[in-house]
Amino acid sequence: MQINQSQALFEKAKQYIPGGVNSPVRAFRAVGGSPIFIKSAKGPYLYDEDGNQYLECINSWGPMILGHAHELIEKAVSDAIQNSFSFGAPTRKEVEMAELIISMVPSVEKVRMVNSGTEATMSAIRVARGYTGRDKIIKFEGCYHGHGDSFLIAAGSGAVTMGVPDSPGVTKGVANDTLTAPFNDLAALTTLVEANKGQVAALILEPVVGNMGCVLPNEGYLQAIRDLCTKEGIVLIFDEVMTGFRLAKGGAQERFGIMPDMTTMGKIIGGGMPVGAYGGKREIMDCVSPAGPVYQAGTLSGNPIAMSAGLAMLRYLDSHPEVYTRLEEVGSTIKNGFNASLQKLGLNYTINQIGSMFTLFMTDQPVTDFNSAKTADLALFGRYFQAMLKRGIYLAPSQFESLFFSYALEDQHVQQLIETNEEALKEVI
Ligand code: PLP
Repeated sequence: MQINQSQALFEKAKQYIPGGVNSPVRAFRAVGGSPIFIKSAKGPYLYDEDGNQYLECINSWGPMILGHAHELIEKAVSDAIQNSFSFGAPTRKEVEMAELIISMVPSVEKVRMVNSGTEATMSAIRVARGYTGRDKIIKFEGCYHGHGDSFLIAAGSGAVTMGVPDSPGVTKGVANDTLTAPFNDLAALTTLVEANKGQVAALILEPVVGNMGCVLPNEGYLQAIRDLCTKEGIVLIFDEVMTGFRLAKGGAQERFGIMPDMTTMGKIIGGGMPVGAYGGKREIMDCVSPAGPVYQAGTLSGNPIAMSAGLAMLRYLDSHPEVYTRLEEVGSTIKNGFNASLQKLGLNYTINQIGSMFTLFMTDQPVTDFNSAKTADLALFGRYFQAMLKRGIYLAPSQFESLFFSYALEDQHVQQLIETNEEALKEVI
């Protein structure tokens, strides 16, 4: 496989863009080699600058649930651009979008559009702080909530550890207000809450984690968290930037039947355009300016092109339940196929899968939190990634990411993925 154009572009990019990319994981540092520069995509395929075709298993980190360049979304965008690109004033489409999100996501009674998942989570914790009059937040080790200062906090060693900034530029003051706990460990969380009684404004989590690889909540864990937050007056925020509209049309909260107080949503709402949103109980959301005193704003928020793309996709998802049936089938077929190959090759690696979210962890241990995810053999994963890539399969370029399958995958693609996985494993083990 030739990737000369991609390599040349990367060399040039490094002169002008920090690290050559506009978001770090794209640089392939975790897997080695040079990143592939994408030129176009259609349905289940990506095409790079050298003309190579790849079967898509990331789908822009989630949003392309229907596959790339779906005709309905293309039409919605091309119709919308006839009317100009931005007004910075209210539009009918924003109202339709809010109404649709509220009808699909069970716990959301009011919603505010923003431009990214990062904005959504930053805004949500500000609102939770304003609503409760408390300063601290709790997040889980290995959960990613965008690059807002409050979320770039390394995990401490004990349950009652204060946060330590994970990136230069995050002040100690901000870090001190972020507490961290291990995922799936109710006892550690309870201890942390007890030690900070009456001070915690919000607990934010990915109800199914995508950002340490795919990690599922233990049976009863989300309900126990819900009960703890209710008892302690803590605003429970489900960060459904990855799980929203993917694990069910109402996201993880619908799938697990647990109602958070607030929900953050992201890229999926825009069908690939830059969008985010946060919403929740009316009483909490009415704290947001201009209804209430908590300030949050955005010139391009509710952008008409993004709303048009998102409305087209969400309306399709809302009216086509067979999409979710198919995504379940695709996810479980791939899991079964991969498991059969692992067995054949005498390997005992762990597969975590739910619906169309999926991670093959290069470890024999069950993966239930960040520490167990970190037992994976990262060098092996890098070799596996490259072996898949050269065979035309585009995976997430890090062990600590979930794959996202799309509705555009047909049975032949699923088979191709299963067979290629076996070949790639044989090459690298
Ligand atoms: N929250 C979660 C769960 C995410 O996965 C991400 C990004 O992947 C974000 C928040 C941040 O979203 P964005 O990259 O749009 O700022």
